[in-house]
Amino acid sequence: MGAALDSLLEYDRAALVELLGSLGHKAFRATQVMEWVWRHRVADFSAMTNLPPGLRGELAARFTLRPLEVVEVSESAVGSTRKFLSRLQDGHFVESVIIPAAVGRGGAHSSRMTLCVSSQVGCKFGCRFCASGLLGFTRNLTASEIVAQIVAAEEIAGERVDNLVFMGMGEPLDNVDNLLRALTVILDQQALGIGARHITVSTSGNVPGLRRLAAFGRPLRLAVSLHGADDAVRSRVMPVNRKWPLGELLPALREWSRTGKHMITLEYILIRDVNAMLPEAYKLAAVARDLDAKVNLIPYNTVEGLPWVRPSEEECRAFCRVLVREHVPVTMRYEKGHDINAACGQLRLRRESRL
Ligand code: SF4
Repeated sequence: MGAALDSLLEYDRAALVELLGSLGHKAFRATQVMEWVWRHRVADFSAMTNLPPGLRGELAARFTLRPLEVVEVSESAVGSTRKFLSRLQDGHFVESVIIPAAVGRGGAHSSRMTLCVSSQVGCKFGCRFCASGLLGFTRNLTASEIVAQIVAAEEIAGERVDNLVFMGMGEPLDNVDNLLRALTVILDQQALGIGARHITVSTSGNVPGLRRLAAFGRPLRLAVSLHGADDAVRSRVMPVNRKWPLGELLPALREWSRTGKHMITLEYILIRDVNAMLPEAYKLAAVARDLDAKVNLIPYNTVEGLPWVRPSEEECRAFCRVLVREHVPVTMRYEKGHDINAACGQLRLRRESRL
């Protein structure tokens, strides 16, 4: 395996102008490179025919345009959800899930193609319901590796991603520098040009990262993995709660709401005998009302190697009815792609277990 090359996919126009200026080239070269990378989607510098050969060679020696290689695509029988596994330059794997327009988030009809991207290789937060925690944390993804998942998805699907969710492997706010750098390119109209309102960052409740994201100042959507409405239940499901308990997390979320960002979604996986009992529904309703948030209920997906149990359909409905009666906007989401292990981390888990 050769040394990993940096990638131009994390350069917005301003960064490219600076890079090419440092190599002695004028600013218009940055516009030309942007067009090749983002409009023509070339994968090789040799295709950039209006650049001087010397510049093409210089760029090819230092940079790559494809910092990951798709090695496996699996399609769900239900709803055509596609999950793909990519090998990074250092041999590690990440996964991403394409949710087609006809399915969309929450199973509702949508005219948008959604992509779920990973932000880290593995994860250090060890949420008890999640396969990604089982192999531990390896490293942060670079901004280019985050952006490259979108480029790869568009190549696989043959259409543009117009709805992006950071809900794959890893905690995006634990990799906030690279997340913000990637977002700069993702939002840039001359690059990927996905609207801020069509981007959801999902967090396990990383308070410092949340404050950095708020300071970024774009109207992104925020989804918070709550999974417990008091510290005792939440710490049982999410060890991260011991580091940033609700007493720290909720004020940071109130601040997010207060500064006019989008409505927060509280993600809540229903787990039998852990957090799916009716008294927990009332506690959750109080938290949601306080934050003016909506709630997304997700019946637990069985994960090989983890002990939790999915509640019955009737238990889930009874929990949901409490929230409705308490005037909390609520949806019940049944994970798509169950048959291709679409819960985060499972495809990589199978692949790395085989190595
Ligand atoms: S749910 Fe997210 S933060 Fe928690 S272990 Fe899985 S990947 Fe990490």
